[in-house]
Amino acid sequence: MSVSVVTGGAGFIGSHLVDLLLAEGHEVRVIDNLSGGHERNLEHHKTHPKLKFYNIDINDVPVDSNIFSGCNFCFHLAGIGDIVPSIQKPLDYFRTNTLGTIKILEAARNSGVTKFVYASSSSCYGLADTPTDESHSINPMHPYAMSKYQGEQAVFHWSNVYGMSANAICIFNAYGPRVRTTGAYGAVFGVFFKQKLANKPFTVVGDGEQKRDFVYVTDVASAFLAAAYSKTKGERYNIGNADPKSINNLVALLGKNEVVYVPQRPGEPDVTYANIDKAKRELGWKSKVSFADGVAEMLKNIHQWEDAPLWDENSIAYATKDGFRYMSKR
Ligand code: UDP
Repeated sequence: MSVSVVTGGAGFIGSHLVDLLLAEGHEVRVIDNLSGGHERNLEHHKTHPKLKFYNIDINDVPVDSNIFSGCNFCFHLAGIGDIVPSIQKPLDYFRTNTLGTIKILEAARNSGVTKFVYASSSSCYGLADTPTDESHSINPMHPYAMSKYQGEQAVFHWSNVYGMSANAICIFNAYGPRVRTTGAYGAVFGVFFKQKLANKPFTVVGDGEQKRDFVYVTDVASAFLAAAYSKTKGERYNIGNADPKSINNLVALLGKNEVVYVPQRPGEPDVTYANIDKAKRELGWKSKVSFADGVAEMLKNIHQWEDAPLWDENSIAYATKDGFRYMSKR
């Protein structure tokens, strides 16, 4: 029987990976400090006999932690997100996303984990040429991207030095049920869904023609599993839908609401677009959920966003002030 540790397992993507691992018959141990305000994400598994939950910060996991004993796979998704807060408090980001990753690597190494899979971010590529493949140059434009990239470097370093088999899943714009609703401004779905529920205008950035490679969360979860089962090691895999959609397209799928336009943020790419050939070839992975189907599925449960913060052009201007201040200098 396989035993998996999932750090960040109560988070948006992590909780879907837990669903998949339990469905596959794994014993799952979740490490999560619930800092993202997502305590309800695993509620549906509350009495599952194969799930254990450890409410602990990754920075506090001892290198000889018995959470890892007998563990085959470690999926490391815990970390802190959001761009503007990373500009304001960079130390927090390097402490958790970089050093915290090293803590988890050490615990995994000590217990003889056979495969380590890291959640990497497409923001590492910066303003990238598209479609973007894994050999694209790295250009982190803010501490969040930098800290995630350094976490990935640590993972590959541990793989080289200690022979621990590891891969990284480089996630483009993941969306789907349980997408984060709390905390800092960001993640367009949480913003728009709450605006729709409150019958307030959608705050479209720029002219809304920018495109993102939105990939449905269950497809992301299956990429993590494929990367764990694969014989490859030391590899990064770009995971997207390879079919970028514009924000105006999202607005059209969400139905009739007024729209207000807010200024384009400096450093924002016009298009993100993953070249997913490597994942297809080496992992046998492909995305299954189209954008229209994914959005329709989320709309069925729109009440999930009832408690999300309601953003408008003024609160967005305030929340993104430091982003404009530092990123527009480039
Ligand atoms: N976006 C938007 N209005 C918002 C928030 C986001 O139009 O209130 C757009 C944003 O310009 C970007 C896309 O939605 O093109 C995805 O933004 P998100 O912050 O979710 O992800 P990222 O910018 O990291 O791709």
